[in-house]
Amino acid sequence: MRGVVFTGESKLEIKEFPDPAPGPGQVVVKMRSSGLCGSDLRPYRSTAEQLGPRLQIISGHEPCGEVVELGQDVTNVKVGDRIMVHHYSGCQMCEFCQTGWTQLCQSEYQKVYGSGAHGGNADYELVEDYMCVQLHEGVSFEEGAAISCGTGTAYQALRRLDVSGRDVLAVFGQGPVGLSGTFLGAHMGARVIAVDPVPERRKLAEDCGAWKSIDPNAVNPVEAIYEMTGGRGADATLDATGIGEVRANAIRSTRIWGRACLVGEGGTMNLEPSPDIIHRQLSLFGSWTFSTVILQELANWIVERDIPLHSIITDRFTLDKAEEAFKLFSGGTTGKVVFNWD
Ligand SMILES: [Zn+2]
Ligand SMILES: [Zn+2]
Repeated sequence: MRGVVFTGESKLEIKEFPDPAPGPGQVVVKMRSSGLCGSDLRPYRSTAEQLGPRLQIISGHEPCGEVVELGQDVTNVKVGDRIMVHHYSGCQMCEFCQTGWTQLCQSEYQKVYGSGAHGGNADYELVEDYMCVQLHEGVSFEEGAAISCGTGTAYQALRRLDVSGRDVLAVFGQGPVGLSGTFLGAHMGARVIAVDPVPERRKLAEDCGAWKSIDPNAVNPVEAIYEMTGGRGADATLDATGIGEVRANAIRSTRIWGRACLVGEGGTMNLEPSPDIIHRQLSLFGSWTFSTVILQELANWIVERDIPLHSIITDRFTLDKAEEAFKLFSGGTTGKVVFNWD
């Protein structure tokens, strides 16, 4: 089978790997769609030296496909099932594994698929049976791929923020996670302010239900948000950029008694706790992806409310065009980019 491996400095190779064979408790998934995530760009752009052992690992952590082969003792899925992969393994014994939060497992069995084990940018992926989450007929494979990281991450963050129709929600950064935050927030009834310097991404955000958008290169986004909200600030804010200055802007544009959530990874942050957080009674959340249970909940919600999640997907490629796909995505103007298989 083919698999996409990052080789350093925004280069990749499509390599041949042996087809996987399932051991006890394992499942082979035939990939039908695999999403590109903002967090892929860090390893994609890093040097071969920084990649180290990842030079041997197939990339991709938003896999979605069909179960084609079962190992011994697999009872929770069957051949032919449409599934999303929750891309983490764990000990299956600790409190986190038992509640579907495998990524929080502190044991040696904890692995992230797509960086610590082979991921989804391949014709097949070998996973543990408990990583499979059922995908309804009403959700397409590419929507399933989007949910499996970027959109799921946004959903869980909005859950932490307890977003509702009473809120103005400001979302900083309109890459795949931020755009999903805008889209889902609007479907939860909030009035969403989308912040992004890239005009294509602001346009996408407006098409996905943003109430207003802000170009932070043209105006001070914090002042603009206070202006748009009668001087109060946003009820809830989400940072999907991971950039220190933007995080601070997100927190400073949150109203007194409001809620702010950070999902963008990496970097640092400089705040003055008294004026920025304490004297404004803020609730500040960090949110890292989602559990298997939340992944299933989001898939159910999308089907039951008939939410057109496909509208966040802007570019589709076949795996042999991986180089082109990553180059485009790395340019920072797209919505969700996916690989699809027939
Ligand atoms: Zn991701
Ligand atoms: Zn565990």
